[in-house]
Amino acid sequence: MRLFIALTPPPELRERLGELADVAHARCGGRRMPEESLHLTLAFLGNVEEVRAAELAAWVQDLVVTPGEWQMQRWGSFQRPGIVWIGGRGRDPALERLQGRLWSALEPCGLGTRPARFIPHVTLLRRAVTLDLEGLPSIDLAWSYNQLELIESIIDERGARYRTLAVSQG
Ligand code: ATP
Ligand code: MG
Repeated sequence: MRLFIALTPPPELRERLGELADVAHARCGGRRMPEESLHLTLAFLGNVEEVRAAELAAWVQDLVVTPGEWQMQRWGSFQRPGIVWIGGRGRDPALERLQGRLWSALEPCGLGTRPARFIPHVTLLRRAVTLDLEGLPSIDLAWSYNQLELIESIIDERGARYRTLAVSQG
């Protein structure tokens, strides 16, 4: 099973992010992320055996996340594969602590590989035609979170669908 751990936005923020995805899509083209799939990845685990996924789900259910608020103030892009995202203007110590805490537990278990860099972001477009972000509206959004999710990614010819397997204590 292809798994990752992520924050998922509360409904109002999800709607707002969906609107921004429409705006970005009109300008940059590509594939707009479905609104129900919008998320902030904290840890991508890749393929995990079912038995281990069940253990992981139990572990996630018992996690207690320190509540936090993440400020999103800028557009950004990743050249490959044409990703347009929104994220923070600077580093976010609270998210870095949360991400670091996850990897300190996951990596010794052989689950995934801690990335060299962590750039918290919400992907809005994939395979954008242009990554020229000039002219996109300015952003000032706050994301209040107090829990995370273990999510399965099911990939088919239309892209990925996500299914939540476990939610931490909220
Ligand atoms: P698709 O790959 O079909 O475009 P997707 O990227 O939404 O769809 P996944 O590839 O399963 O679906 O990725 C799930 C989440 O994990 C996304 O947030 C993605 O950016 C992130 N992710 C995927 N692969 C990696 C990787 N190798 N390293 C870090 N994060 C990754
Ligand atoms: Mg992918």
